[in-house]
Amino acid sequence: MSTLPVSSAGDPPVIGVLALQGDVREHLHALAESGARARPVRRPEELAEVDGLVIPGGESTTMSKLAVIFGLLEPLRERIRDGLPVYGTCAGMIMLANKILDGRDDQETFGGIDMIVRRNAFGRQNESFEAAVDIAGIDDGPVEGVFIRAPWVESVGGDVEVLATHEGHMVAVRQGAVLATSFHPELTGDHRVHALFVGMVSGGQRSAPGGGHGEVGRSR
Ligand code: GLN
Repeated sequence: MSTLPVSSAGDPPVIGVLALQGDVREHLHALAESGARARPVRRPEELAEVDGLVIPGGESTTMSKLAVIFGLLEPLRERIRDGLPVYGTCAGMIMLANKILDGRDDQETFGGIDMIVRRNAFGRQNESFEAAVDIAGIDDGPVEGVFIRAPWVESVGGDVEVLATHEGHMVAVRQGAVLATSFHPELTGDHRVHALFVGMVSGGQRSAPGGGHGEVGRSR
């Protein structure tokens, strides 16, 4: 699959939302509000046409099954290895973990971040909560973190940046072009995390190898 960006420098990036299951609509809205061209992704052909991808919250065991059925597991693993920027929230974070704890035996992940993630670490549905979370790289105060049967990051490898913690647990991490949060910024009206991700995707467009699209005009 091509590693060249879909959009030319200067165009808003095309960012997909993995639409197998979960809160897809909210992410499409937050991405559009953050200046991206947002579209759902269900098929490998649609995956090939995005500059970046969001993996929503929902249920990671179901998402894992559907990714196999829709033929997306290997194509997405390959695009992530090739440097596709990806942002996962909650179940999406679980899908980006190289290893998970308290998963189902047959549960697959896409991987992408050298971390071990514990599912449902913050408790069950009725222990869901909101908390202010300070995120490295996001100015103007904390974001409102919505934690719903949320995972936390139990441990990370040396190349992983920890962007936020809550009560001592890692809840936002980044490794290269892959970003993950335990919580759901798409459920609040505050799109700063999506804007950070759109910036990561746009940055990748500007510095993409090959230079086939050229550095036309000023970077956004
Ligand atoms: N606990 C869910 C899972 O394991 C994630 C919950 C969520 O995405 N809000 O997939």
